[in-house]
Amino acid sequence: MEAVLSQVPRALGADVRYVGLLSLPSEVLDESRGQYLADSVVRLVAYRKSVDSIGLLLADADGYIPGLNFVFGLAIPELRAASVFLRRLRLWTDRANYVRRVVKEVLHELGHILGLGHCRNSLCVMSFSNSVLDVDRKLSKFCSRCAQKLARTGIAVPAEYII
Ligand SMILES: [Zn+2]
Ligand SMILES: [Zn+2]
Repeated sequence: MEAVLSQVPRALGADVRYVGLLSLPSEVLDESRGQYLADSVVRLVAYRKSVDSIGLLLADADGYIPGLNFVFGLAIPELRAASVFLRRLRLWTDRANYVRRVVKEVLHELGHILGLGHCRNSLCVMSFSNSVLDVDRKLSKFCSRCAQKLARTGIAVPAEYII
C-alpha cells in the first residue's frame, strides 16, 4: 500500500488516497475453485467508490475470470474500477520484488482504465502477464507509445516512468 501510494501519484500525476478496507462477501467467492470472481469483485469496488474517482482494490486473494485459470488483476474501464489480486504475486520471491510486482500490476490496471490496451513491448508495464516471470520481466514504466497515448488524454507521464 505504501509503495502504491508513493509511486502511482508520481507515475500518473494522480491524487491517490487510501479509503478503507473492503471485505469480500461469500457471493463473490467460487468455493469450488477457492478463487474470487474477478468481475464481481471489480463491480463491488465500483459500487463502493465515489463517482468522480477511480477505484482500485488490492485484494488479498486469488481471482479469476471464466476461461482463465487466474488473473493478476482486472479492470472494467466503463466502471472506472479495478482490482489487483495479491496471492499469486507473492509467490516465489522476496518482499521487495513482491512490492514491485504489485506496483506494476496497479499501473497496468490503471492504464486500462485510462484507455490503454495490452502492449506488445514485453518491457512495457501494459504488456500482458501470464505468469510471475512475465511480471518480473516487465518494468514499472510505460513504453513511449503508451506514454504518448496517455499524453493525449492529458496525463503527462514523467520521464522516469517512460522506457
Ligand atoms: Zn491487462
Ligand atoms: Zn506500451
